[in-house]
Amino acid sequence: MTELAKFFVPGPTWVRPEILQAMMRPMIGHRSPEFREMYGRIRADLKTLFNTTGDTFVVTSSGTGVMQAALENCVKRRVLVTTCGAFSERWFNIAQSLGLDVDRLDSGWGNAVDPAALANHLVSRRAQYDAVTLTHNETSTGITNDIATLAAIIRDESPDTLVLVDAVSSLAGMPVLTDEWKLDVCLASVQKGLALPPGITVVTTSEAALERARKHPYRGTYFDFLEYKKKADEDSVPSTPSIPHIYGLERQLDEILRVETLEKRFARHREMRDITLERTASYATIAGDRTYASTTVSALRPSKSADSIRSEMKKRGFTIGGGYGEWKDSTFRIGHMGDITIDALNAMLAVLGEVATA
Ligand code: PLP
Repeated sequence: MTELAKFFVPGPTWVRPEILQAMMRPMIGHRSPEFREMYGRIRADLKTLFNTTGDTFVVTSSGTGVMQAALENCVKRRVLVTTCGAFSERWFNIAQSLGLDVDRLDSGWGNAVDPAALANHLVSRRAQYDAVTLTHNETSTGITNDIATLAAIIRDESPDTLVLVDAVSSLAGMPVLTDEWKLDVCLASVQKGLALPPGITVVTTSEAALERARKHPYRGTYFDFLEYKKKADEDSVPSTPSIPHIYGLERQLDEILRVETLEKRFARHREMRDITLERTASYATIAGDRTYASTTVSALRPSKSADSIRSEMKKRGFTIGGGYGEWKDSTFRIGHMGDITIDALNAMLAVLGEVATA
């Protein structure tokens, strides 16, 4: 029997031993026919995962790199960043570091981005933003934003504005409907819902995003979406990728799409969220707005010290996530994402219950 996971950090998440094994295959050249075949299969599977007919790429970088890439390729001057926690704020910091003209619509930690506030902002500013950034699942607070509604508002109020979406802790844990929601860039690093070791990021781009990049001459080299597109059309990549990750990704996409299936995977994640909230309710409250409680990560505010709970869990062999940013001392987080099983989660929650009420 496979050993149950004891690692419940909301990224990097636990990786199955079979996947680690798959990543240890001997090297192949990234310009070889074997690589092209493998990358072609991966790109097709990514279209299924992202629910898109758009272009899909793999970038050897963590998610932050591709957030920066999205801004570098798609924003010439003005961008609106919607924030509701630490990772949505990261868009703001990157935009500032690039010298962009950046506005921020803040909903406050623990809340979802308010559609009405977004609509009001877009109407009242009458600002022509090159892009708006959205964060599908705010990992620091355990909140899932309603991207369908938010993206539709941007489309209605400002049709030429691109919609850039961080799906880092949502992809492969809940539906991401890129085409239906009309997203222009949607990205996810793989150490969360895809349950791979950290190191690469998957991304999809719309034709409008690529068209914008074409008009923007100084896109840099490493993260140039047009280079990714040109090479992807030949099932290739601009520079040497992390080949072990590509092996792991090919295997994981097969397992997710054809062995477990997306429907069952999403149902398992919903069940993990519900079990977590139910079994911790007597000693911890959900830190954010329950209506938007994430199916991949729960941020909980315990009656006892969060720090002592985490260190006591560590002594018993379990790692759970710490609080983040403004909520560092008052919360802990449980990552119930990727390949974590219901059995593993229940085994951990049994011990957590003892520790938190001792
Ligand atoms: N966005 C979200 C929602 C995240 O949870 C994280 C990492 O935890 C990031 C962005 C940053 O991704 P990376 O650490 O892969 O750069």
